[in-house]
Amino acid sequence: MSASITMATVWLDGCSGCHMSFLDLDERLLELMERVELVYSPLVDFKDFPEAVDLALVEGAVATNDDLDKIRMIRSRTKTLVSLGDCAVTGNISALRNPFGTDAVLQRAYDEHVVGNPGRPDRELPVLLERATPVHEKVVVDLVIPGCPPSADLIWHALGELVEGRIPDVTAETRFG
Ligand code: SF4
Repeated sequence: MSASITMATVWLDGCSGCHMSFLDLDERLLELMERVELVYSPLVDFKDFPEAVDLALVEGAVATNDDLDKIRMIRSRTKTLVSLGDCAVTGNISALRNPFGTDAVLQRAYDEHVVGNPGRPDRELPVLLERATPVHEKVVVDLVIPGCPPSADLIWHALGELVEGRIPDVTAETRFG
């Protein structure tokens, strides 16, 4: 295992539960950080995705134009791209809005049942794509880690194999909720 491996985690359209599961590695995070260099993540304060990254874990579906631009950029700069959790892998919760169309979703979120200051701040929002999609519908993905969220043990197993240059078997355990 090499300490020169650079790693990123990315948050697209997800609830952050997959990142919470990553944090559930607890003391194993210290061991992980001895083996990888975390160069981009919502968990740290780096603003720009580096030009070249060895391993990136992506939480969430691709749901907005910003998500799409971001994942294309990240794919172009990443050696091994991993979909982390069911929103990234299948669309999952993020894709539940797909049958209703973007107008209905925005109306529901910003107009209906809003008693204080209803209305859509369109100019401040990323544009919703017509469908929220799994990451692999937009860019090539090298591995999926299923689960909602994947357990910390499964993430630990997958990372251990990946940083050793092996493809992990992630079929042993999946869970929902
Ligand atoms: Fe949240 Fe589950 Fe989606 Fe992860 S897979 S972002 S835990 S809803």
